[in-house]
Amino acid sequence: EDFTHGGLRDVLIENVLKAKYTKPTPIQKYAIPMIKGKRDLMACAQTGSGKTAAFLLPIMHSLLEDKDHPTVSPTGATQPFCVILSPTRELAIQIHKEAVKFSLGTIIRVGLIYGGTASFHQNNKLTGGVHILVATPGRMGDYVNRGRLCFEKVKFVVLDEADRMLDMGFQQDIERMMSNASMPQTGSKTTVMFSATFPQDIQKIASKYLNNYLYVVV
Ligand code: AMP
Repeated sequence: EDFTHGGLRDVLIENVLKAKYTKPTPIQKYAIPMIKGKRDLMACAQTGSGKTAAFLLPIMHSLLEDKDHPTVSPTGATQPFCVILSPTRELAIQIHKEAVKFSLGTIIRVGLIYGGTASFHQNNKLTGGVHILVATPGRMGDYVNRGRLCFEKVKFVVLDEADRMLDMGFQQDIERMMSNASMPQTGSKTTVMFSATFPQDIQKIASKYLNNYLYVVV
């Protein structure tokens, strides 16, 4: 079995093959059709499992199907269709890199914001609108507070390495994002959580913010 069986757009399959991914990993086999079908999903998957492509490919497929162009509000807030939260700058950069690779030859624009550096360069891209925004939780909160980011157009949320985000003290930032007034309700967007472990605090977040979700361990 290869990626051509997932029903993904040709351009995405070409980019996957260019990246030398020939055979989908178990999480990719499971998650790609589920996320493509807009099911909320809680996946226990480690780094190295291929989880990044497992969520990026079906999300990009859906955004290409929708043919929507990303917008910026009249007050200058970027309105992404997909937000991906990552615990660390390194992981955010890695996800962004993978997303850019898969987006080649498509209209999809990907933005990246993370803490610890001047946000000037990161802003330039966002002011033109992005389909997908990869961010660390604290910096994402800053952007919301300063009116530079709003969630009203969000169709997909990914919480990557959720257990690590909680360990690093980002629970409040996650909850603030998920319950932000501009964020579409649970059930009117697709939310996907990845975590290496599934302890009680992660289960609580899942039951609070995921709708009728599938649970998979790989
Ligand atoms: P991840 O778990 O998303 O951090 O991916 C781990 C590594 O596996 C990354 O370097 C990916 O580029 C690579 N990778 C992901 N999916 C595949 C695949 N289907 N075939 C080969 N390599 C892959």
